Amino acid sequence: MERLDSQALLRELDTLEQRHQRRQRRTVEYLPDLDHPERVRVDGRELVNFCSNDYLGLRCHPVLIAAASECMRRQGFGAGAAHLITGHCSEHHALEEELAAFTGRERALLFSTGYMANLGVLSALGGRHTLIVADRWSHASLLDAAHLAGARLRRYAHAQPSSAAHVLASHGGARLLVTDGVFSMDGDVAPLRELSTLAVEHGAWLMVDDAHGIGVLGERGGGVLEQARLDARAVPILVGTLGKALGSFGAFIAGDAALIELLIQRARTYIYTTALPPAIAAATRAALRLVQSDAWRRERIRGLVTRFRAGAAALGVPLMASMTPIQPLPVGESARAVALSEALLARGFWVSAIRPPTVPQGSARLRVTLSAAHSESQLDALLEALAEVFA
Ligand SMILES: *Cc1c(COP(=O)(O)O)cnc(C)c1O
Repeated sequence: MERLDSQALLRELDTLEQRHQRRQRRTVEYLPDLDHPERVRVDGRELVNFCSNDYLGLRCHPVLIAAASECMRRQGFGAGAAHLITGHCSEHHALEEELAAFTGRERALLFSTGYMANLGVLSALGGRHTLIVADRWSHASLLDAAHLAGARLRRYAHAQPSSAAHVLASHGGARLLVTDGVFSMDGDVAPLRELSTLAVEHGAWLMVDDAHGIGVLGERGGGVLEQARLDARAVPILVGTLGKALGSFGAFIAGDAALIELLIQRARTYIYTTALPPAIAAATRAALRLVQSDAWRRERIRGLVTRFRAGAAALGVPLMASMTPIQPLPVGESARAVALSEALLARGFWVSAIRPPTVPQGSARLRVTLSAAHSESQLDALLEALAEVFA
C-alpha cells in the first residue's frame, strides 16, 4: 500500500475476495437448549455444528453454569485489576493449584487466552540471544510470539525430528524447541518422544502447546503428554487452553516453580492486563473436575472418530491421517472448499473451509471436528451429506 486510506483498504479486501481468501463471519444463535451444545441457528437455519472446539461437550454443562453463577452472586463479575495489583482472586489461585496437580507440575499460571500465554512465555524467555526452533506448522500465536519476542526463529520441517536436530546442531546457546501437541489444521500429533530426546541431547528446552489435546487425549485427559507417557522432565514447559475441551475460557502455562515465578516477573501479557473474571475460573475448576471424572466423554469421541473414518472410507470421502477429533478432508482449491462448505450448510451441517494462508497454497480443506456432544445419527447424516457433495 502506497498510502493508508479507505480506498487502499478496499482494494486490499478486493484482492482477498478474488483469491477466495476473504473470510465471512456468521452470527450464531445458540438454541435455548443446553442439552444440545452442538445445535446452532445461523441466518434462521438450524445447523449441526461440526467445527467447534467443544470436544467434550462441556460448553453448556449445568455444573459449569452453576459454578460461574454462584461465584458471580458471591463475588461480582469483573476481577477489577491485573493479577499483580489486586486482581488475583482465590478462585484463580485454586484453579492454578488444581491445574498444577492435574499436569503433574510444581506450578501453573493462568493467562487470559492461549494467544497471550504463548506471547508471554516466549517474550519472557526469548530475546535476541535465544533461538526458537519451531515446527513449520506451529499455531500462529507461537510464530507471532517468536517474532514479537525479538528472538531468532528457525522453523523445521513439519513433524520431522531430523530437521529439528539439524537446526539444533548448527546453533549453540539458549534454545527453545517449540511445537503444538495436536496440530490444529491437520489433527496429527507431534513426535514428542523424539523431540524430547533431541532437546535433552542438545541441551535445549522443549515447550508443547497442547491446546487441542488437553482434556481429549490420554486416559485421564492429560493430553498428548499423557498419551506419549512423557513427564515434566521431558517437557519442561506445557501450554494448555481452557476454551476448547474444557468448554470455558483462558489458558495456562505449567512448569517448575522457577519458570512460573519468572513468568510472573517478566511475562508482559500476564502483568499488563486485567485478570479473568473469577467466575470464569470457578467454571473452569468445575470443568476440570468433569474432565477427570467423565472418562466416557473421551471414549465417546474415540468411538465417533473410528465411526467417522470407517464411514468416510466406505463412501469414498477423502481423509487425512488423523486419529484425533480434528478430521480434515483434503480438497485442494480454495474456491472448491468454500463451495463444498456452502453445500453442507444447505444440508444443515456447519463444517468450515480452511484456506491459505492458514494452510499452504493448494491444500485447502474442509475441517470436521467431532465432539462427545454429537450423536451417531448426526454423524451418519453428515457422512451421507459429505458423500453427496464430494461425488
Ligand atoms: C486455539 C489455540 C491457541 C489460542 O488459544 P486461545 O485461548 O483461543 O487464545 C493457541 N495455540 C493453539 C495450538 C491453539 O489451537
